[in-house]
Amino acid sequence: MEPTNDSILVFKFGGASVKSANAINNVVDILKRYDNRKIIVVVSAMGKTTNNLESLFDAAINQNQELFTSIKETLYDFHIEIINKLFSNGKYETIKHKIDQVFDDINTFYRKPSNKPRSQRYDSFISFGEHLSSTILQFKIKQDLNKSTWSDARKLIKTDDQFQRANVDWYASITLIQEYCQAELDANRIIVTQGFISSNALGETTTLGREGSDYSAGIFAHALDAESVTIWKDVPGMLNADPKFFKDTQKLDRISFREAIELSYYGASVIHPKTLKPLQNKKIPLYVKSFMNPNEEGTKIDVDTSNDHMVPSFIFKKNQVLFSITPKDFSFLIEANLSDIFLKLSMAKAEINIMQNSALSFSFLVDHDPNKIKSIIEQLSPSYEVKYNTDLELVTVRHYDQKTNDFVCKGKKILLQQRTRRTARFVLG
Ligand code: ASP
Ligand code: MG
Repeated sequence: MEPTNDSILVFKFGGASVKSANAINNVVDILKRYDNRKIIVVVSAMGKTTNNLESLFDAAINQNQELFTSIKETLYDFHIEIINKLFSNGKYETIKHKIDQVFDDINTFYRKPSNKPRSQRYDSFISFGEHLSSTILQFKIKQDLNKSTWSDARKLIKTDDQFQRANVDWYASITLIQEYCQAELDANRIIVTQGFISSNALGETTTLGREGSDYSAGIFAHALDAESVTIWKDVPGMLNADPKFFKDTQKLDRISFREAIELSYYGASVIHPKTLKPLQNKKIPLYVKSFMNPNEEGTKIDVDTSNDHMVPSFIFKKNQVLFSITPKDFSFLIEANLSDIFLKLSMAKAEINIMQNSALSFSFLVDHDPNKIKSIIEQLSPSYEVKYNTDLELVTVRHYDQKTNDFVCKGKKILLQQRTRRTARFVLG
């Protein structure tokens, strides 16, 4: 079916795309390109606000007045400077009043400690970041483009009670989103809402996990049978390696949902891993595009798998620890040992990045988290000889070729390797 102009576009703008007055003006310019389309804008907190709110939260919990005040003032000045550049006169006063109200709530949080669990208090507090960004952005869009409305994502995305990593109640959320958004989009064309935040059945704020705004965009798109989702980023699209570490990265022009899910499973950090499933189920394409160069193609992720093998992608995980364990009683590694090992690893809450076994030993790789390493050793050392190596790297190469494998392993010692038809993985020291 040809998409009509009545179909819905979901746009997700992350922290970097709204980190300054210029950046916000740029968002408005992007929206102007989609004149008269129905658009849901899902926005993250501005710049590094969520990280700063985390520090502010700790200062509040510890009742460290001096630290609390200093971080809060920095955060306040950051937002005020932005609205100062964006609005004048009466408009500035109106939006400043709204910002001040959020900061009043921040002060109240400090003054009135509650006895709710820490993770629940974190979620209510951390949501201030998205509240601020969406309020400012919506006000600007309304001023420049006329038709837009602000909506509270907590009234639309419902979850269970797992604070800080809530699970979506799909049935409730889909019903609420459909009921509310269709009517608002008919009347107002652009809805501005928050990524990352949601609420439980009692209406208490929950969150979908750090970097969860992409996932929010996926939820809205799924509920509304959107035409597409676009994640506007500070990179030209999905790249075959992390540009922080490599200069010669290549853009992946088009890949399948399956491939994108695999890449994010191995640790590629472009898209929040939960985002893809709800889109894949409804075959809604996801575009990753540069907010600096909106004319450029970006990456298209959809059901088509035919381009998946075009470019080898490689993903590095640093700071890895390789364990190698042998039963103390000199028994061979048989199923009974393996199930015992897995039980103990799950008691230690170990997350295994790669594993391998031989007749006498079992090897596995984990992230270097000192507390977990300690509990892994405690669990295993009564029955197994435990050895481990630190400071290693795990490299995963999708659609590998010899040239790429040689490149990623160059000058390093290979401690362990695994290959399937599509994926080669190396533990390097
Ligand atoms: N602002 C939240 C975070 O930084 C959510 C997001 O950016 O996706 O984790
Ligand atoms: Mg963010």
